[in-house]
Amino acid sequence: MESTEMDVTQLEMQRPDAQRPGGARGEATGRAGAAPRVSVNTQRARQATEPRTARLATRGLHAYFGSSAVVRDISLDFLEKQVTAIIGPSGCGKSTLLRCLNRMHETLPNTSVGGEVRLDDQNIYGGGVNAIDVRRRVGMVFQRPTAFPTLSIRDNVAAGLRIATDTRRTRQEIDAIVEKALRRAALWDEVKDRLGGSALGLSGGQQQRLCIARALATSPKVLLLDEPTASLDPLSTQRVEELVYELRADMTVVIVTHNMQQAARVSDFTTFMLAGEMVEYSPTKTLFTTPGDDRTEAYITGRFG
Ligand code: ADP
Ligand code: MG
Repeated sequence: MESTEMDVTQLEMQRPDAQRPGGARGEATGRAGAAPRVSVNTQRARQATEPRTARLATRGLHAYFGSSAVVRDISLDFLEKQVTAIIGPSGCGKSTLLRCLNRMHETLPNTSVGGEVRLDDQNIYGGGVNAIDVRRRVGMVFQRPTAFPTLSIRDNVAAGLRIATDTRRTRQEIDAIVEKALRRAALWDEVKDRLGGSALGLSGGQQQRLCIARALATSPKVLLLDEPTASLDPLSTQRVEELVYELRADMTVVIVTHNMQQAARVSDFTTFMLAGEMVEYSPTKTLFTTPGDDRTEAYITGRFG
């Protein structure tokens, strides 16, 4: 369709505070090449040659609040070392779907789940599976930073380890894990001199990266992010987006966002949800340029939502 033929870079430019690809974004951090225009194009080239395995997959997934099915019959693969974005209007079930992927949905009252979620071919809802262990392998970060106010920066990251294993670790071992997680979350340089200080001394963007570090401390295979930049300023948003883009080098990332430009910038694949159902799943560039469903086209062109 001619009307939807637009480049992902155009989507990016629609955002008032957008950084130009290859501009301040790469230079400011010394991490060049994080521009999504490149990512989507090289992604397409790679797809043609490399088979990818699904690290996480849903089959006929339903999620309920009481008798109301707010996620319905979703079968979706989340590919290894790829970022999958989940977009859709408020209330369509994005957060609920995400919470089903690491057994967090069941922590809310009066909820139930049907169907399967397979993590490396194990159904995480199967008999004998430990939900705590699943959450260690599938980390989650929420919309608002959830730094623990009474804990130091170090202990905020180490808090993720408490559920990780029964084995006792030495202080040095924990310090090493904390440092590694903070480095991966691109926060180490900013906090290394005040690890014993309160996490509340950090900016909102730093706190969100702290929460990402906490999730990374258990070395998860999958990272779930639920609108991780919704409460952040543009510069902090950019840093988190760069981080998401980099993390995909060695893990599977699923990001919920109601910001289509963000989905276009950071993801390899995008799925569009509507009223609890999955309308479309496509490579990100395809979904935003030549969507396969009229409802996707209506949504991405701003006709509703
Ligand atoms: P999204 O993240 O896309 O905005 P949610 O997954 O939060 O959507 O919500 C999906 C549906 O589930 C909505 O209709 C919402 O009202 C309902 N819902 C969400 N949380 C609860 C809850 N704790 N109890 C009952 N219904 C809920
Ligand atoms: Mg939500």
